[in-house]
Amino acid sequence: MAKSIHLTKEQALRYQRNIQLEEVGIAGQVKLLRAGVLLVGAGGLGSPAALYLAAAGVGRIGLVDHDTVSLSNLQRQILHTTPDLDRFKVVSAAEKLGVLNPELIIETYQERLTEVIAEELIKKYDFVIDCTDNFRSRYIINENCVKLKVPFVYGGVLAWSGQTFTVRPGLGPCFKCVFPVEPAPDSPATAELGVLGTVPGVIGAIQAAEAVRFILGVGDLLVGRMLVYNALHAKFYEAPVARNAACPVCGGYKK
Ligand SMILES: [Zn+2]
Repeated sequence: MAKSIHLTKEQALRYQRNIQLEEVGIAGQVKLLRAGVLLVGAGGLGSPAALYLAAAGVGRIGLVDHDTVSLSNLQRQILHTTPDLDRFKVVSAAEKLGVLNPELIIETYQERLTEVIAEELIKKYDFVIDCTDNFRSRYIINENCVKLKVPFVYGGVLAWSGQTFTVRPGLGPCFKCVFPVEPAPDSPATAELGVLGTVPGVIGAIQAAEAVRFILGVGDLLVGRMLVYNALHAKFYEAPVARNAACPVCGGYKK
């Protein structure tokens, strides 16, 4: 197919507020429409991230999630509504995104991201968003993204706090550099400590912005710095994160 930079009249209107941005323009919008982003998890972080990517016109959105919608999800997982209870999250999510923006390709994988499928899945996409809630999945995303040189943005939320940074393989620390040791299985989680719904809302939106800026090739990504949001005191902090030269996942990369 010819790589024209033509947008239809409808696309020009739908994405007008993107196109008006100097850093986007028609060429940037075409980049977004041609890009593919994989979201691992269609819950608290995946909801805002997927909605903003679909609204922005990211042409191909992949969603991996094995879970169904439960009543306690609805306090923060804004892709899903009461009639979606017990439906698979990927089905509910694909429906909402399809209504928001019917011209996109939504690819769903109703399964857990395991070592077995991760590489095949991740290599189909330009960027990955970690919207999971456990270290095991994050390590799988990290190992495969580093191996395939696909960038991804990590997001984590607990109680009133959320944090995020982006991994660009070869250019900064990977997830294992920053979190070398998996927390014990009995470490506190949102299921026990709760989480304010707007915390994943804010972090998921920041993750979507990382994906968009990466695709466009503009601005600065959260590489080598972790952004922390505290919703109780309404504060953002930034903490430097560094590569570990002995990292077993990315240590082999030359700077
Ligand atoms: Zn590393």
